[in-house]
Amino acid sequence: MENRILVIEDEKNLARFIELELKYEGYKVVTEYDGRDGLNRALTESFDLILLDLMLPSLSGMEICRRIRQSEDMPIIMITAKDGVMDRVSGLDSGADDYIVKPFAIEELLARMRALTRRTGKDTQDTLNHKDLILKSKSYKVEKDGEEIPLTKKEFDLLKMLLENKDIVLTRDRIIEKVWGYDADAETNVVDVYIRHLRNKIDPDRPSEYIETVRGTGYVIRT
Ligand code: CA
Repeated sequence: MENRILVIEDEKNLARFIELELKYEGYKVVTEYDGRDGLNRALTESFDLILLDLMLPSLSGMEICRRIRQSEDMPIIMITAKDGVMDRVSGLDSGADDYIVKPFAIEELLARMRALTRRTGKDTQDTLNHKDLILKSKSYKVEKDGEEIPLTKKEFDLLKMLLENKDIVLTRDRIIEKVWGYDADAETNVVDVYIRHLRNKIDPDRPSEYIETVRGTGYVIRT
């Protein structure tokens, strides 16, 4: 399948770099450098995913996102230069599906794009697998070797997030945002506590077999 990507980014060097990398990966890429042009393009053509810069001439990424969302459900990844919580909140509030903070490694962008198209793809999977582990989204069940593992809601959400983002190291902050919500005043070590619970329920004898700890950063499930 040909994946068509719209890149709206006014920093020409960065836009060109993204375009080259994505083309190399087999994507078809259309680039717009101006906010208004980008919005027009997004509303008149169909894309599998939009990479949208936050700070753009003539129309902000936030506004573009909001307007696209009024009529389209194309997946949108916001590219932001700032790492302020407020920016991320408003980015996601305006309808973006994910965000990536500049400067980023192209591998991280590609992994996020894959994760997002997996999540939003037409063949959206009800089940997520890893080794002998099966997570069923709709019925909120996790099975290992055919046996159900009873998980709390938060443990389930945490495991689901890790499975949806295989090979992406999830920081504690990102996990808290997603699983506990932005307004949560959760301490970052709450994540460690829940990971420990989760590991004990999945396989107490081999705690790192399923969920790997990335020291000083966070957690990842590797394919
Ligand atoms: Ca910009």
